[in-house]
Amino acid sequence: MRIILLGAPGAGKGTVAKLLEEFDGSVQISTGDILRSAVKEETTLGKKAKDYMDRGDLVPDSLIMEIMEARLKEPDCQKGFILDGFPRTIAQAEELKKLLGRLGVSLDFVANLEVPREIILERLTTRRTCCNPSCQAIYNLKNNPPRQDGTCLLCDHETIQRDDETVEAINNRLEIYNQKTAPLIGYYEKEGLLKNFLSLVADDTVSEIKKAISA
Ligand code: AMP
Repeated sequence: MRIILLGAPGAGKGTVAKLLEEFDGSVQISTGDILRSAVKEETTLGKKAKDYMDRGDLVPDSLIMEIMEARLKEPDCQKGFILDGFPRTIAQAEELKKLLGRLGVSLDFVANLEVPREIILERLTTRRTCCNPSCQAIYNLKNNPPRQDGTCLLCDHETIQRDDETVEAINNRLEIYNQKTAPLIGYYEKEGLLKNFLSLVADDTVSEIKKAISA
């Protein structure tokens, strides 16, 4: 499959993407995960991105497009890809359209994950992420906790609350989502690519997306 997962921070894009990967071998491409690894490893990209990320601001489009161009050309994307957290602005969507044209591939659809704001706030403040850059498993203290000592069930590393998951940064991220990313809903509706999914339980959302892919 070749899809974009659109939705506010905390809408469950990462969880849904990981479950969809198991379906047909398509790869999850999360710009957030790529950037967090780069920050941890203190690469040039990571140094440029860190301050924006800590504030919950968007990283400049030019940096994001460099990452995406390189990533989409990697061989594992041949089977398909699930874009998670990209595009985040109309400018990125326009650049993606050109890039996919150059690569000779087209999107199946854009899945817009809809979740009420109260649920989003609760999910973000109770979220914990594995600190191992090559794992980054996501947990939730309420319904999918890590081990009691806070370690990851998959790789035994510590799980942490991300710097951008303080209440202040979360409010900023939601504000930026409304200003810069939500307009993509109208953009992809015009392109005839938008499908809306109420995303309360990840497994249900995944089943609905699989049905839409197989239709
Ligand atoms: P995420 O894990 O998708 O919520 O991303 C975490 C942070 O990485 C965001 O708050 C942004 O600072 C940055 N980021 C991730 N994807 C993008 C993108 N497509 N455009 C700009 N910034 C991004």
